[in-house]
Amino acid sequence: MIELRDLTKRYGDFTAVNEVSLKVDEGTLLVLLGGSGSGKTTTLKMINRLIEPTSGSILFDGQDVLKMPAHEVRRRIGYAFQKIGLFPHMTIAENVGVTPRLLGWEAGRIRRRVDELLETVELDPKEVRDRRPSELSGGQQQRVGVARALAAEPKVMLLDEPFGALDPLTRDRIQQFFLRIRKETGLTAIFVTHDMVEALILGDQIAVMNRGDLVQVGTPRQLLTKPADDYVESLMATPRQQADFVEELLAQEPTGKSTGKSGGKAGSKSGGKSRGKSRGKSRGKSS
Ligand code: ADP
Ligand code: MG
Repeated sequence: MIELRDLTKRYGDFTAVNEVSLKVDEGTLLVLLGGSGSGKTTTLKMINRLIEPTSGSILFDGQDVLKMPAHEVRRRIGYAFQKIGLFPHMTIAENVGVTPRLLGWEAGRIRRRVDELLETVELDPKEVRDRRPSELSGGQQQRVGVARALAAEPKVMLLDEPFGALDPLTRDRIQQFFLRIRKETGLTAIFVTHDMVEALILGDQIAVMNRGDLVQVGTPRQLLTKPADDYVESLMATPRQQADFVEELLAQEPTGKSTGKSGGKAGSKSGGKSRGKSRGKSRGKSS
């Protein structure tokens, strides 16, 4: 359904995305996984023509995306991007309904669809419908972004860390909801994340990027059992380290203070960073 062929983006001498080739079959969700600066956002934005590639090609249902008008591409592919925010001057309802309106849906149908979508992303339509984006928290705005991307029932979606600003419980519920609608609608999607666990939960296929290179594509199981290189191996180790750490905490005596050794060990690897992050996140429950 979507195919990238030697897709490349250079900025001067710097190669942000280096000859990436991959295929996303109809009905599959491909996770693009990689550290910050690895080229994930650039790849996604090239697919819907927000960034023009330096070379290579993109096929959508066999059609050359680079030869399609940009607005046509964006109408057919729903997208929720990290930093493409909501339209600040529009209400939440207008934001969510923007594509259906462009498609000429009748007003009543748009209103019903908007309310249904707001409920799906756990926002109360009565409460938020008429507010402006600035009157919502970051996590709420992100959910409106996902609702907007789903509004016109696209067959294909591009999502760039769409759940990054959500507190852990909301994130968990929205991930589950997302898995559900994917099953129901047979949605094809490319989903960017730097979160290993999210990648393992959501991905049919995971494509790992490192410094602009595509280093491995495979099922979650293939990546876990046959990592192509040290980078993929260390990425796959982080969820396990975190799970081990939690196991260890649970195994300790209630009064025990012997966290020092193994806790410190995990902390010296990449696990330490993620642990700090998840602690920070659980504090922000009200987001
Ligand atoms: P990711 O989404 O994986 O964090 P990006 O795709 O946003 O990474 O960026 C990939 C690399 O390209 C980064 O090193 C970034 O600094 C660089 N980059 C992105 N946009 C530009 C630009 N307009 N000019 C120069 N370099 C850029
Ligand atoms: Mg990015």
